[in-house]
Amino acid sequence: MKIAIVGLGVAGSYLASRLGKENEVVVFDRLSKDGFDAVCAWGTAKGGISKFAKDCGLNFENYVVHNGREMQVNVNGGTVRIGLKGLCCFDKKRFITDLAEGQDVRFGQYVTKESLAPDYDMVIDATGLIRPLLPKIKDDLLIPCVQYRVKYKELPFDDFYVKTFPTLSGYFWYFPLGDGTCHIGAGDYNHKHNEEIDSFLKRYPGEIVKKNGRPVRITPPSLCQPFYDGKIVGVGESIGTVYPMLGEGIIPSLQCAELLVENLQDLPRYREEVLKHFKVYDLVYRFIKSKIDGNFSLPLHAKSLWTIYRYMRTREDRYGMEIRMLKIMKIVLGA
Ligand SMILES: Cc1cc2nc3c(=O)[nH]c(=O)nc-3n(C[C@H](O)[C@H](O)[C@H](O)COP(=O)(O)OP(=O)(O)OC[C@H]3O[C@@H](n4cnc5c(N)ncnc54)[C@H](O)[C@@H]3O)c2cc1C
Repeated sequence: MKIAIVGLGVAGSYLASRLGKENEVVVFDRLSKDGFDAVCAWGTAKGGISKFAKDCGLNFENYVVHNGREMQVNVNGGTVRIGLKGLCCFDKKRFITDLAEGQDVRFGQYVTKESLAPDYDMVIDATGLIRPLLPKIKDDLLIPCVQYRVKYKELPFDDFYVKTFPTLSGYFWYFPLGDGTCHIGAGDYNHKHNEEIDSFLKRYPGEIVKKNGRPVRITPPSLCQPFYDGKIVGVGESIGTVYPMLGEGIIPSLQCAELLVENLQDLPRYREEVLKHFKVYDLVYRFIKSKIDGNFSLPLHAKSLWTIYRYMRTREDRYGMEIRMLKIMKIVLGA
């Protein structure tokens, strides 16, 4: 098939690698080659991502820049310490570039429905937030995020540090990148993220190397339909594959891309498989929304909390961390 992949994010580059062997693939990205970046904090779990790298002939360890041991979570001034099991930071930009190595990648091209030549058999919308090729999502829930890359002579923390916002409307993050730099950022539904970053940078001033950011979509796949429209099909964050509790989209977008590889010839089945695989995201989304909207009550949401806990507890390697009920309760209740 002749396939256009629009978006050189983690989903688009993975698809380029997987589909490029047997199809004629062209990848488009709106960013220029020199200005290309992976706007993300670059945190992921080895247990979730390694097999995708391997399937594309890459060794994920070669991209790891920081191995996490313990994450400090600041909850209302108190500290919750979470043991880590493979949570790391990796050079996502190099990873993406290497995934797409050898493919026809055209940088600096903002694709719209109208701009694309009509002779593709399939067009994949892997544009993340923007989704210009598929119908607009009604009631899309987006969390605005800003991030800095900061260089320190002496790092303020030597491992992952996170501070939650009240009502779990977002969080501040500090992710070390292994070379004296780190990603410092925050996302908050209530738009307090810039304030939090400023106050951190005031306390721990460093050299700002880069600033970027964009909102992250936490609307789950079931609410991001349709996934396909004629020969256009969405993948990754463009169809909502971000774990709403964490704003974590790398591994889910790879999982979604793999579902597309497996069901390339059968898009109705792809839709079914995506809905099945990401079903629990509906529950997590409703849970987070209840916190944000101020409708959360422990008796009302205890069952959801238990289901989310069991889901993550049985996938500790996939999430890269130890999942303990008491710690989750402390974070959720802000105590
Ligand atoms: C600030 C921030 C920090 C994050 N940190 C983490 C983290 O640490 N770990 C984690 O797991 N997740 C994180 N996420 C979420 C994660 O980055 C995304 O969910 C994930 O990368 C989505 O992958 P994707 O390939 O679907 O889309 P994207 O990675 O967004 O890639 C989309 C690509 O499409 C291109 N594009 C967009 N529109 C067009 C167009 N019209 N024409 C051509 N090209 C286009 C863009 O330039 C981009 O390269 C973060 C998100 C943000 C915003």
